[in-house]
Amino acid sequence: MRAEIVAIGTELLLGQVVDTNSAFIAEQLAGSGIDCVFQTRVGDNLDRIVEALEIALSRSDAVVTCGGLGPTQDDITREAVARVMGVTLRRDPGLLEVVEKFFAARGRNMAASNAKQADLPEGASAIPQRRGTAPGLVCPVGEKVVYCLPGVPDELREMVGRAVLPDLRARSGEQSVIVSRTLRTWGLSESTLAEVVAPRLEHLDRAGGGAPTIAFLASGIEGIKLRVTVKAPDAASAEVALAREESELRHLLGTRVFAVDDETMEHAVGRLLLGRGLTLAVAESFTGGLIASRIVAVAGASRWFRGGVVAYAAEVKHEVLGVPPGPVVTAEAAAAMAAGVRRLLGADVGLATTGVAGPDPQEGRAPGTAFAGVALLAGPPDAVALRLSGDRARIRQIGTISALDELRRRLLAAG
Ligand code: ATP
Ligand code: MG
Repeated sequence: MRAEIVAIGTELLLGQVVDTNSAFIAEQLAGSGIDCVFQTRVGDNLDRIVEALEIALSRSDAVVTCGGLGPTQDDITREAVARVMGVTLRRDPGLLEVVEKFFAARGRNMAASNAKQADLPEGASAIPQRRGTAPGLVCPVGEKVVYCLPGVPDELREMVGRAVLPDLRARSGEQSVIVSRTLRTWGLSESTLAEVVAPRLEHLDRAGGGAPTIAFLASGIEGIKLRVTVKAPDAASAEVALAREESELRHLLGTRVFAVDDETMEHAVGRLLLGRGLTLAVAESFTGGLIASRIVAVAGASRWFRGGVVAYAAEVKHEVLGVPPGPVVTAEAAAAMAAGVRRLLGADVGLATTGVAGPDPQEGRAPGTAFAGVALLAGPPDAVALRLSGDRARIRQIGTISALDELRRRLLAAG
């Protein structure tokens, strides 16, 4: 079974809206073992939508479209697919009632144009709408099929799972599932990472055919990801294969893996602190609150995060945090800041950053010179140099994640 996606909307071509719908649909198709072979974007133009659909149908068994099902003038997906089917549109009384009720329930007048959302190409069936007003469409074209989904991401997602995937799987007779898991790493360059996992990749290569595949994804500043993909007869055996591969990779990568899938560094740190019943306080100089900000983005952070001090001026480091007189871009100052904030805010653990974000040097030290201090319980505080490079924004961002990573690895080492 070959499927493809046609995303409809001039805003997509202009770059005003990023086509996340296609990415979502593609991921879902893959998860259902259906090959997605092409993705097309086309504007709100009847002839070109028809052309895109005809090309797609000439080479694939199923086409999923998104967008252009709304009530406005430029919403013309219905007309286009009717033309491809060689039929006319007919107003469906049942659908019309649903649209009318939607407006009545909200005490709003229904514009005449909304009635258009009750139009169906002759021979098509509707995917009832649960979140908005536009129903989706299932449009048979000979042996093939076009699914038309609304552009609004929430509405689309719900319909993909409820109607499109079950129908496609039934049509394709496809039983296998394809699932992925992403291991997120921090602290290794892409080339070092590749070297570390090379033995496993070679092993999988030799195994050939149905073996898991591994892809490297560099994701901006958030570390390098390793995506493992497996194809299996059912969800349970896919899970087993994924777990096995994850454990092989973790064996090679150790604590360089900080999280899985969507989990962030701050989630990982929070999970470790919570598991140990510890609370955290942060003292930030060149990261200026970025660490605290990322932490409070984690739901439930109040259970383990006490608070933070942005100690930017040297006097604040000395007077508020008790850092001894002398230079402040040093490992000693970072350690003293961590111990100071831990005491000041009554936390079990203190984490601190001090460094030069640039572009100008400070205390005679180059931009990118930075230290993370950690004070774990009553033990002596400790600090490490962070190796940072790039512009000011990048140094601050990478410094933030690096400091959190430093804390994470110490928590793991402390058991
Ligand atoms: P509506 O009933 O809201 O008009 P529609 O089916 O006509 O739905 P569009 O008008 O094409 O859909 O898009 C509605 C909104 O959905 C757009 O403003 C845009 O924010 C979002 N959207 C549309 N297409 C995509 C896409 N491919 N990826 C992500 N978002 C999209
Ligand atoms: Mg619209």
